[in-house]
Amino acid sequence: MVTNKELAELIFPEIKETIEDLEKKYPERNLKEGAEVTRFAPSPTGFLHTGSLFTSLICHKVARDSGGVFYVRLEDTDTKREIQGSGEQLLEQLKLFNIVPDEGYLGNSQKGNYGPYIQSQRADIYKVVIKYLLENGLAYPDFASQEELDEIRKKQEEQKLTPGYYGEFAKYRFLTNDERKERILNGEPYVIRFKSSGNHLNKVPVSDLVHGDFEIAENDLDIVILKSDGLPTYHFAHVCDDHFMRTTTVIRGEEWIASLPIHVQLFATLGWKAPKYAHLPVIMKIGENGNKRKLSKRHDKEAAVSFFLEDGYPSEALIMYLMTIANSNFEEWIFEHKFTGMEEFKFSFSKMSLEGALFDMGKLSFFSKEILGRMNKHEILERTKKYAKEFNPELYSLVERDENYFMEIMNIEREKENPRKDYEKLGNLKEIIGFFYNDIYEELSSNIVFNEKFSNQDIKDVLAQVRDNLSLEQDEQNWFNNMKEIASFLGFATDRKALKANPEAFKGSVSDVAEIIRIALTTRKNSPNLYYVMQLLKKSECDRRFNSVISKL
Ligand code: GLU
Repeated sequence: MVTNKELAELIFPEIKETIEDLEKKYPERNLKEGAEVTRFAPSPTGFLHTGSLFTSLICHKVARDSGGVFYVRLEDTDTKREIQGSGEQLLEQLKLFNIVPDEGYLGNSQKGNYGPYIQSQRADIYKVVIKYLLENGLAYPDFASQEELDEIRKKQEEQKLTPGYYGEFAKYRFLTNDERKERILNGEPYVIRFKSSGNHLNKVPVSDLVHGDFEIAENDLDIVILKSDGLPTYHFAHVCDDHFMRTTTVIRGEEWIASLPIHVQLFATLGWKAPKYAHLPVIMKIGENGNKRKLSKRHDKEAAVSFFLEDGYPSEALIMYLMTIANSNFEEWIFEHKFTGMEEFKFSFSKMSLEGALFDMGKLSFFSKEILGRMNKHEILERTKKYAKEFNPELYSLVERDENYFMEIMNIEREKENPRKDYEKLGNLKEIIGFFYNDIYEELSSNIVFNEKFSNQDIKDVLAQVRDNLSLEQDEQNWFNNMKEIASFLGFATDRKALKANPEAFKGSVSDVAEIIRIALTTRKNSPNLYYVMQLLKKSECDRRFNSVISKL
C-alpha cells in the first residue's frame, strides 16, 4: 500500500526542504512592540485601480505609523491574466504618490530578506508546504477533468446545492493512494487540492480590524492549492507568503471577506498564527440606474489612477481625498494643518466607515485647488513642466516659450495668505491661460461671445472708453474706482444694489462693464483677477485687443 509519504515523494521528488527549513530561513522579524508588517499585493493584470491605491495608502500608513515594514509582493500566479510590464508600471505609479515600499518587489528589482517577492519565483516554497500537506493526508491530487467538474456543477444546480468541490462531490478525495499513484504514473493531468475537514454548519469566530468580531461558516471546500501549471492559487499562496514574510496585518479589499473561511482554515491546518485582517470598504459610485455600485474598471474613468495623473490632478490631492474616505476626521485635521504634513495624522481602523464610500469628484477638486493654490510660482512651474512633459505636449511647449511669463501668469493672486484657487488641475491649464499668449488669443477671438443683453454699440462704447480712459498705472482699488467712473459715464450703475433698486435707469452695472472687458481680453467669462490680467498683458496689448474686437463688431 502506497503511504502518504511515498505519494508526496512521487509528486515532489525534487523538493528536499522542509517547513522547518523555511521557518529558519525566514525567521520572525526583530521589530519593536506594536510594529506592523503590512503588504500591498497587486496582481500584474493591468492599471493601478483607485481602490488599490487606497489599499496601498493604508498599508503604507499603518506600517509608517507603527515603525514597521511595508512591502510589496507581486501576485502573478494567474499567468493568463498577466499583462507584461504592468507590475513595473504599478510601482512607478505608487512612487508618484510617495508610496515607496521598504522592501519587496520594487519594479525592476527586489529588496529584502523575505523574498523572492514575486509569487511565480516562489514555486518551490509552495511545494515544500504542499508536500507537507500531502505527507500528512491534508491534500491530495485531483484528476477531475473539465467535463467531470461541469457534471458536478450541473448536479448541484439541479439539486439546488451550493456549488463547489466538497463532501461527496469531491470525487477524487476518496481514491486510494495506490490508485493515485497509478494515475500519476500513467501521466494523467492533475491539480492538488486541500482536503478540508470543515463543515459549513459550524461557525468560526473571526475578527477584523474594520468590521469587528463576527462569525463565519466553516469552509468545507476542497480548494485547488496547486494548479496544473505548477503554480499555486491565490488562497494558498497568500497564506504561505504572509506567514513566511511575517506579515502582521493583511490589509485588502472587502471582496476577500467571503474567502476568509478558507484562509483561516488553511492557517489553522498548518498550525500557523493567522495575521490580523483588515478588509477595507470598496469605493463606489452611483450607477446609471441610480444604485450604488463598485467603481468599474471598464466603465468608470475614475477607476484608473492614470486618469487623475493624465488629467493633471496633483497626486497629493488624490491621496488626501482617499484619506478622507479612510477616516472622516481627517478632513478637519488637514484643514487645520493647512493641507500639509499628513504623515502626522493618526490613522485608525476603528474610525473607518463600513459603508463603501462614494467617489466624490467635487471633494477631490476641492483638495486639488487647495494644493495647486498653495504652491509658489516656482513649484507650480516645476509641477506643470513635469506633468506636461509626460502627458500634455501642447502645454509643455507653451510653458517653455517663456518660463518667467508663465510664472507671472500663475502668480496672479498667489503667494499670499488666502491664495485664489483658480486651478483644479493642470490638464485644462491651456484652456484657462491660453489667452495670455497672443497667437492663442487670436485663434480664440474669432468666436468671442458677449452677453446678448448688450448691443454691439454698447460693447464698442465700453471698450473704447476703457481703452482711452482706464489707466493701469494705479493700484487695484483706484483702478476699480476709475472703472466705476467709466461705467457711470456710460449709463451703468456703479454697484449692483443701485441697479437692483432702479433697473430701468441703467444699462447694467459695473460688473457688466468688467465682464465686457474680461471677455474682450480673455475670450472667457472666467479668468484670474482682471486687474492683474491687464497688468500682465500691458496697456498696449490690451488696447490692441480692444481695437481688434471693436473692428469686428
Ligand atoms: N492579489 C490580490 C489582489 O490583487 C491581493 C489580495 C490581498 O491583498 O491579499 O486582489
